[in-house]
Amino acid sequence: MKDAWPDAGFSTRCVHAGTVEDTLAGGVNTPIFASSAFRVPGPLGKVVYPRYQNIPGQVAVAHKIAALESGEAALVTASGMAAISSVFLAFCTTGDHVVLQRDLYGGTVGLAQRELPRRGIAVSWVDSENPEDFAAAVRPETRLIYVETPSNPLMKTLDLEALARMARSRGVLTVADNTFATPINQNPLDLGIDIVVHSGTKYLNGHSDLCCGAVVARSELIAAVQSMVSLYGPSLSPYDCFLLERGLKTLALRMARHNENGMAVASFLAQDSRVGKVFYPGLADHPGHATAVRQMRGFGGMVSFEPRGDVEAARTVMQRLKLFKPAVSLGGVESLACFPAETSHASITAAEREKMGIRETLIRLSVGIEDAEDLLADLDDALRAVH
Ligand SMILES: *Cc1c(COP(=O)(O)O)cnc(C)c1O
Repeated sequence: MKDAWPDAGFSTRCVHAGTVEDTLAGGVNTPIFASSAFRVPGPLGKVVYPRYQNIPGQVAVAHKIAALESGEAALVTASGMAAISSVFLAFCTTGDHVVLQRDLYGGTVGLAQRELPRRGIAVSWVDSENPEDFAAAVRPETRLIYVETPSNPLMKTLDLEALARMARSRGVLTVADNTFATPINQNPLDLGIDIVVHSGTKYLNGHSDLCCGAVVARSELIAAVQSMVSLYGPSLSPYDCFLLERGLKTLALRMARHNENGMAVASFLAQDSRVGKVFYPGLADHPGHATAVRQMRGFGGMVSFEPRGDVEAARTVMQRLKLFKPAVSLGGVESLACFPAETSHASITAAEREKMGIRETLIRLSVGIEDAEDLLADLDDALRAVH
């Protein structure tokens, strides 16, 4: 897929890469191909079927995502978790071992804690951003190392290039969840990572009106994931492919604003005495700042913080927010706020959350594309309610 707009900038690729020409009416968008039955032999010269992820709408949007991630191939799925679980299904089997970063999306943690062991796959957790600690966890039967950077919800930043180099020398596949960064801010494949996964539900679609996922990698790896998606069936419907393709056209534009607003909100919170800790890779005192500066083009719209005071104080702050809506999920044009301990990380025990550093007072913001002054005023009002 490297042939599509190879030298074009991100905005051009967002708009144009992958579009399937409408030869019937001359429309400028990929048509919605709603068929589940396609004539054989047909114009595409192969069996076409939605579950095989080869109907034109699926191919078009996968092509666009591959072009943005500078990957050879991609496929889209019915959720981010479908993308993630299909990768584990494709590359791990009974007797294998995988290494995961501790600070991951709650659903991924649940999959690795409950589902992988049931299939005879051993799991090790690494509570560190140091590639050497990942190296120490690798065994002869290790198949895959799985990371997320910046991570959810503490925005830990991991040196992907160093991790990929270490894993490659040991013949272990690397997988990076690039949901928070998006291809606009970070391209893990360019840093040597083997497989990128996305919850397209978040920034890729960007309008909080769709659930979808994506996997990007070398063609041979995508073929392995593709056969799992064909067997287990979480393909993306033609209507959802259309929505995702439409959302992606403005990804570069939206991310520019998310980056600006994320930085404005993080800076505002960091200088405010009513706030304890702020987690944002763009802040100079963030532990992963140097890594973020090296491997990211922007720091994104995800900011977590702990207001000073107890859980009740944090709850009051949450209740007083007006523009930031209390909601799970992230990456849409509208600003959202949630308690990770009660939402994304509710399925794991309090003791584990404590170990991960996710306190009950931690509020995670998904900073939208509204006017920054309005967002800061909203935060200021909410903090004033308790201090
Ligand atoms: C939401 C999310 C997922 C899961 O994606 P779904 O689309 O909800 O299945 C995976 N990773 C990260 C970082 C997420 O934020």
